[in-house]
Amino acid sequence: DLSPVRRALISVSDKTGLADLAKALAARGVEILSTGGSAKALREAGLDVTDVAEITGFPEMMDGRVKTLHPMVHGGLLALRDNAHHLAAMEQHGIVGIDLLVVNLYPFEAALARGAEYDEMIENIDIGGPAMIRAAAKNHAFVTTIVDVEDYAALLAELDANDGATSYAFRQRHAQIAYARTGAYDAAVSTWMADAIGEQAPRRRVVAGKLAQTLRYGENPHQQAAFYTDGTGRPGVATAVQHQGKELSYNNINDTDAAFELVAEFDPADGPAVAIIKHANPSGVARGATLRDAYQKAFDCDRTSAFGGIVALNMPLDAETAQAITEIFTEVVIAPGASDEARAIFAAKKNLRLLTTEGLPDPREGGMIVRQVSGGQLFQNKDNGYVGLDDLKVVTKVAPTDEQLKDLLFAWKVAKHVKSNAIVYVKGMATVGVGAGQMSRLDSALIAATKAERMARDIGAAQSPAVGSAVASDAFFPFPDGLMEAAAAGATCVIQPGGSMRDDEVIAAADEAGLAMVFTGMRHFRH
Ligand code: 5GP
Repeated sequence: DLSPVRRALISVSDKTGLADLAKALAARGVEILSTGGSAKALREAGLDVTDVAEITGFPEMMDGRVKTLHPMVHGGLLALRDNAHHLAAMEQHGIVGIDLLVVNLYPFEAALARGAEYDEMIENIDIGGPAMIRAAAKNHAFVTTIVDVEDYAALLAELDANDGATSYAFRQRHAQIAYARTGAYDAAVSTWMADAIGEQAPRRRVVAGKLAQTLRYGENPHQQAAFYTDGTGRPGVATAVQHQGKELSYNNINDTDAAFELVAEFDPADGPAVAIIKHANPSGVARGATLRDAYQKAFDCDRTSAFGGIVALNMPLDAETAQAITEIFTEVVIAPGASDEARAIFAAKKNLRLLTTEGLPDPREGGMIVRQVSGGQLFQNKDNGYVGLDDLKVVTKVAPTDEQLKDLLFAWKVAKHVKSNAIVYVKGMATVGVGAGQMSRLDSALIAATKAERMARDIGAAQSPAVGSAVASDAFFPFPDGLMEAAAAGATCVIQPGGSMRDDEVIAAADEAGLAMVFTGMRHFRH
């Protein structure tokens, strides 16, 4: 299954390592064909090169749009070397076999990252490169395809191990890598276009990404994992700068994202906010007069769970908040910036990871969520739904006060980021009890109330902070029982989507308990 490499076609945009590779190939007696810019670079490095234009009999034309799109090239890549008809066709048309293709594509992703204009993006769509890669990879029975500068060394090692030839296993492996590259490339093009024209339909979108990090393992040590960035450069965990601490793990990245997306719901123009996350659910979220104050309130909501948590801030980290955070063990802190003083305080805590970004994620921004199921994939748009004051419908005899409305909307924003069934008690723009991920809404209400009682013990309060609180439910109460549990815990106002068959019963129960209740008309399931 060895295939000797006698002739190579090299056409690369990224010229890194090009001269060294070509010299190494020439030293092994490989004849080199090349395109305009690549050929020029090779000649400058003192190498003998045949221009592809010489083989095709056509000059490169149309600003490089047409360079290698020619039967002399594609015949040379695609011909089966053990097929008499193919060999006869080669003979008849003077097609020479190409045994090795080295191509890297026009830097479309780099143009995307620098925010190039539409026309420039279009010019950065490589046509001939992917065509050659796909042809050579298809013919991996005979042809070797290399699409990544990082694989040059492996190629040379392979040639040395096989006396100037490549093994079938090597060619097959690199054919697979080649299709991963062309697939990701077209995915990047399509995703960019979808964003440019506002295409939202999941069935019209593909997933594009660039490998950013091979992770040590996944959610558990026996799972492999990797991290891909989408190249948009949007603020978030994918584009954050890490200042200190160990490499982020899969769970860190997932939880940090959850924390930052949650805290981004709270506009910094309205003041500081802090979210502390454990296992992708908030252990506490609060606004405060200062960032330090917000952190303390978020921490107080569930001091036990906050240990080893992930802290997200909606404003740059300052010194006094940094000091407070270092008082317990925290895995990750993410913020849109950090003062030098704050960074100096963190520097003493070697295991604490600090990430800073150029701003907050936009909670209103669209996006695609993909989930694997047996035999397929589920796609959906991101939950970027928003409920404002004007969207609320008061359904009880008592209407919430302005103060209560603030807490209700705060609780609602938090509930959106809590695994269903979500019940969230809030007082004074701070969570005081979070019930997450239970299989019944009643259980979530009970757990949240129990947590509020524990908070009272932790902070030495005389009564449960759920007394006089606002409560949010991410989906409607199917029965009055969950609502009654919240009332029993001391909640005085409720925010929920409404829309249950038994809304009338639920509203009647709320009226009887003297609660104020508003409907949002929007649900925030998060499974
Ligand atoms: P060079 O710098 O050698 O002139 O161009 C190398 C780049 O051209 C590579 O990225 C390769 O993928 C791309 N390329 C090769 N053939 C064609 C073609 O026929 N059309 C287009 N648009 N790009 C090509």
